Amino acid sequence: MLVTNIAVTSEFGEFMSDQLESVEDFRIRARAWLSGNMPKLDPAKEYNTNRVADREWVEHRELQKKLFAGGFAGICFPKEYGGQGLTPAHQTAFTEESAPYEMPLRLNVPSLSICSGMLLDMGSEEQKQKYLRGAISGEMILCQFLSEPSGGSDLAGLLTRAQRDGDTYVINGQKCWSTFAYAADYATCLVRTDWDAPKHRGLSMIIVPVHDDASHLQRVRMSDGSDEFCEEFFTDLVVPAENLVGAENDGWTVGQRQLFYERQAVGGGSPYVSGRQATRGGSEVTVADVARAVGKDQDSATRELVGWQTALDTVMHQVVKRITIGMTSGEYPAMASSMMRLCHAEIPQNRMDIMLDLAGDEAVTSAEHGDGYLRNVGIQYLMRQGASLGGGSSEMSRNMVSERVLMMPREMAADRDVPFREVRRGR
Ligand SMILES: Cc1cc2nc3c(=O)[nH]c(=O)nc-3n(C[C@H](O)[C@H](O)[C@H](O)COP(=O)(O)OP(=O)(O)OC[C@H]3O[C@@H](n4cnc5c(N)ncnc54)[C@H](O)[C@@H]3O)c2cc1C
Repeated sequence: MLVTNIAVTSEFGEFMSDQLESVEDFRIRARAWLSGNMPKLDPAKEYNTNRVADREWVEHRELQKKLFAGGFAGICFPKEYGGQGLTPAHQTAFTEESAPYEMPLRLNVPSLSICSGMLLDMGSEEQKQKYLRGAISGEMILCQFLSEPSGGSDLAGLLTRAQRDGDTYVINGQKCWSTFAYAADYATCLVRTDWDAPKHRGLSMIIVPVHDDASHLQRVRMSDGSDEFCEEFFTDLVVPAENLVGAENDGWTVGQRQLFYERQAVGGGSPYVSGRQATRGGSEVTVADVARAVGKDQDSATRELVGWQTALDTVMHQVVKRITIGMTSGEYPAMASSMMRLCHAEIPQNRMDIMLDLAGDEAVTSAEHGDGYLRNVGIQYLMRQGASLGGGSSEMSRNMVSERVLMMPREMAADRDVPFREVRRGR
């Protein structure tokens, strides 16, 4: 059963501890600090585009350092690691107050919400002081090296190996689809350390430097023009044994924890995400916005679509709330995060489909034509499938809900309890 490190309440619950500053007092203090310290969103600037400019990484590190110096970084992380030791309700208040300002949003996922969350639960004291504090203070960015070319869904079938050599591990293999790795300093890397154990029992999680002479990193250009993904090749990458997170060969437990935080982040329920995505004019574009932009807002069929999507968005928000509360109280198991994750795949995909239908020709993806606003609808559509892959595919999420939440029979697995060395796999 999952019990998060979050103090007493959920984002949506009442503030319950009288030891802490009240949410309202905190909100007032945050509002004053934000107006005196953070840059206001510039209406002429495009935020949250699919292409991340190199300068953004420099800016976002600086913004995170400002939050840290001002006492507003890592609101839900414990104070001993540089956080504020407050509750998700404080975080929600801060996110609302910070909406008109530039925020270091690129550091939210995976660095703070996924890797740091996992390190808080599973890292050694030294690792927390170095990497967790490093991420919260804006000194370092973390990313995750999990997926491999042989398949991301079958994560436990990974082939990258780490060999213990005295006080070090020597790593060889390949990772792929690592979001923002090129901009990161360290990665939490899942590797195989025992080939004689069954696949889930021979893995270890090791923190590795992203940029090293023994690693080759290349960025992957996607059809939407973005190149946030990277792939990495390790040839005798040597890392200190103290970088092992948890116990050797217990990497599946550590990885599961990381995946829990990933589903929570991708599902929109992470307490470690600070700030809200800003798009045109600083607010999220809705189906109704697109309907208005193309002059179809009085059309009855369009209004039905807008109503349908609005209902789905409302349900999604409520489901995320409900599950977040349930997981915090222990009513739901950690795997319930798969339900949030599934909502955040299916419902945004529906939204993208409707937006593309409404925008029609105006959503052309060519950079030379069309209004930038509607053209973005087309560009974003190119990453539509990503919503049901990143953080675990929709099919895998359904499997989790069926097997681990509803406790239905498990899927057949020919490699269960077989030493990994003997498992048949494609070349
Ligand atoms: C936006 C985004 C960000 C990502 N960021 C990272 C990152 O930072 N680090 C990282 O390591 N990886 C990352 N990934 C990779 C991601 O984790 C994988 O894409 C995902 O796990 C699926 O793996 P795959 O792409 O290899 O597909 P595969 O595992 O090859 O699956 C292909 C298809 O088969 C289906 N399938 C597979 N097995 C089953 C089964 N048992 N039952 C039913 N259906 C099945 C899948 O659902 C899918 O539709 C990211 C991916 C995306 C899209």
